[in-house]
Amino acid sequence: MGNTVQPMRSSFTNADLVECVLVSLPDFRCLASTILTSKTIYNVFQQHPRSVVRSVAYNLVGPALPQALRLVRCQNAQLYSKPIDELLGEDDIQKNPALSSEDIISLVAISACVQIQELESLFSWRMKDRRFKTSQLSLAESTRFQKAMYRLCLFSAAYGCKAYQSVLEPDSDLEEVESALEAARTLRKGFFDSFSTPELRDIQRVEMFLRGIIARAEGDCFTTIPPATYSPESSYALYCAPHKVIDVYKEGLDCIDICEEEDEELFFHNFMDGPLTSVLADRKEPNIIPVKQKQAIIDEVIGEHDRCSQCQSDIVQGLDLWGPSNWSYLWDTPPLYSITQLLKGYVSANLADKAHFTTVLRETSAAELVEGLFDYKTPAYYTWNKEDWLCRQCLEKLMRDHLHIWYLGQKVKRGDVIPGNCWYGYNCRTQTHKLEHAQKLNHWCEPIKGDAPPTNI
Ligand SMILES: [Zn+2]
Ligand SMILES: [Zn+2]
Repeated sequence: MGNTVQPMRSSFTNADLVECVLVSLPDFRCLASTILTSKTIYNVFQQHPRSVVRSVAYNLVGPALPQALRLVRCQNAQLYSKPIDELLGEDDIQKNPALSSEDIISLVAISACVQIQELESLFSWRMKDRRFKTSQLSLAESTRFQKAMYRLCLFSAAYGCKAYQSVLEPDSDLEEVESALEAARTLRKGFFDSFSTPELRDIQRVEMFLRGIIARAEGDCFTTIPPATYSPESSYALYCAPHKVIDVYKEGLDCIDICEEEDEELFFHNFMDGPLTSVLADRKEPNIIPVKQKQAIIDEVIGEHDRCSQCQSDIVQGLDLWGPSNWSYLWDTPPLYSITQLLKGYVSANLADKAHFTTVLRETSAAELVEGLFDYKTPAYYTWNKEDWLCRQCLEKLMRDHLHIWYLGQKVKRGDVIPGNCWYGYNCRTQTHKLEHAQKLNHWCEPIKGDAPPTNI
């Protein structure tokens, strides 16, 4: 019995198995090296090359493959400023299932695009689980995020800066600009109108998230999730390349080289949110999903109802709480004005130290600063711990009461000789208009006399 191997059956089973292995390979490099290992394997591949290649593409890119393929095919075909019915659709993967080598090269590039992966991790950290910087999104959440991201990228590729260059000459007159702008608005709206409302909400959430990153880099916000602002920078970044917003997160606003040409400004003004909210309005949908309702993309927010460790406020919960794992999101470029405002008394205008205080702030990351404040904790804060989750108000309170002590500590650390304390401490007004006095005494301390200005130096 053991010797009665049936050759036909065996060969069929082997071919089946080989095909199973081929379609589960993670990328095209593996596929190439596998099919070159033997003639038999190569022959199996040759029987179903399209489906094997498509399966490997799926393994590589994930469930958002149709959106990714649509993006790369439209880009490769240079489909700029086309109405939605002339743009390839997300069903193009069914209509033209054979992947060309150009498709494959582009898909490999898109799957290796760390910017989209990094944006997903950042999105997860800010919108799902504030404890982890790496993506904690479920497969469904991740797929929704990626689909929305590819759709945003396609929108930008088809109707953004390249479209502008394709429809207008640099010396166009006002009439030409206006008619091109009108046409562009119609095309953009047509693009968003092709999606269902839940899909639009996913796109909107990612778009607002990206604008929030830019608002953070603008450095005006402090201890709150930066609101998505409609700044020219945010519109311009989305108009050029949404995935590059991660560079703004890492390097600041300098990496947006904003175009200041007046005609083009008209083109990128409210580039995405304009047509998107216009479609929502036509569908009698609210502009954005109300705060209390489930937000797009994320099914479950980890610690959604966690409360501030100190005040237990029920107003600020979950994602708006700050602890060691997310202090670093607070800012990259410190919001100097907001932080300086928290200094006590008149010490922010101290003639001897104010410039240096700003320099030290610029050199200190958000995480280093907040952790540093805890190192100088005053007795009133004995129940406060670094591991606490703090709401905006409590974090501001901690900063207000410790910033001056922390700064004095930084001066000591760099070897400054600290002079004797002025009796009026941070409340001394003389420090703001007499340099000699500001230099002669230390003002980064508690007053031990009333807050009247001293009569002499
Ligand atoms: Zn609190
Ligand atoms: Zn003084």
